Amino acid sequence: MLRVGVHTSISGGIDKSVDRAYELGCTAFQIFTRNPRGWRSTQLKPEEVALYRAKVERYGFLGYNVAHMPYLPNLSSPDEGIYSRSLDVLIDEVKRCGELGIPYLVIHLGSHMGKGFEKGLEKLVAAVETGVTRVRNRVMILLENMAGQRNNMGSLFEDLGRLYERVSHLGDRVGICFDTAHAFSAGYDLSTPEGVDKAFEEFDSLVGWGNVYVIHLNDSKHPVGSGRDHHEHIGLGYIGEEGFRAILSKPYIRSKPLILETPVDEVRGDVGNIATVWRLAGENPPKEIIERWVKYTEKDEVDRKIVEEWIS
Ligand code: ZN
Ligand code: MN
Ligand code: MN
Repeated sequence: MLRVGVHTSISGGIDKSVDRAYELGCTAFQIFTRNPRGWRSTQLKPEEVALYRAKVERYGFLGYNVAHMPYLPNLSSPDEGIYSRSLDVLIDEVKRCGELGIPYLVIHLGSHMGKGFEKGLEKLVAAVETGVTRVRNRVMILLENMAGQRNNMGSLFEDLGRLYERVSHLGDRVGICFDTAHAFSAGYDLSTPEGVDKAFEEFDSLVGWGNVYVIHLNDSKHPVGSGRDHHEHIGLGYIGEEGFRAILSKPYIRSKPLILETPVDEVRGDVGNIATVWRLAGENPPKEIIERWVKYTEKDEVDRKIVEEWIS
């Protein structure tokens, strides 16, 4: 069965994110364990942790629940102050994921701020090594490919491959998260079957699909190679339906947790994007999932048409 879902909010308590994922008909989901735009976290309450864990198990999300690092840390920063605060956040997040039983923590690779890739690489490698060795649990840190923004680390597959190679001695504590929109913005044309084949073969030789544990499935608001990171609804951006059909035809993609970080607006919501992924993957969701979509779109009508295609 396809494991596909969205990023859900923890507002009102971390366990509420699981209810939201369930109601949206997700079969995988992602959260921030704290406010993603701040540096501080408040300690997890034992009741909250217990509830989160119980709901993850009850709703069948075990092994398919993902966390994402907050946005402010820069693990490649040349500024010692920023770097050490960033490392503190990473260590804290690895701990929090361990408490919550979240198997994967996705991290951004940061910016070398103009000091060059090699300088950034030493920082980032040291950070990941510290995060793993300082916290002895089973949480896997996943390096996410970036969108080619100026000074960002790990947008090109060869750069990501070099970074991974330097931390691969940490074994099952590190892996890769592949973001389709980021790869597209970084210059890999995923909008046609030929482009997908070419890019994915290159990825396999430089990084290896066997090292990828989570897919961020996003379309892009900007053309290929834009270096800009704005996500679009699945199939409605520059990658388009043809691109996603090709992407989702690959067994090494469709067998992994597929996390959508797509907009929610008047064009489409989360249910609409999730249902579109099932359609483009050519797989029928279980009827409980369709029932949840129906129920959800009774109160939120934006995706009702997309859901109706699955009932008729
Ligand atoms: Zn990310
Ligand atoms: Mn992403
Ligand atoms: Mn992004």
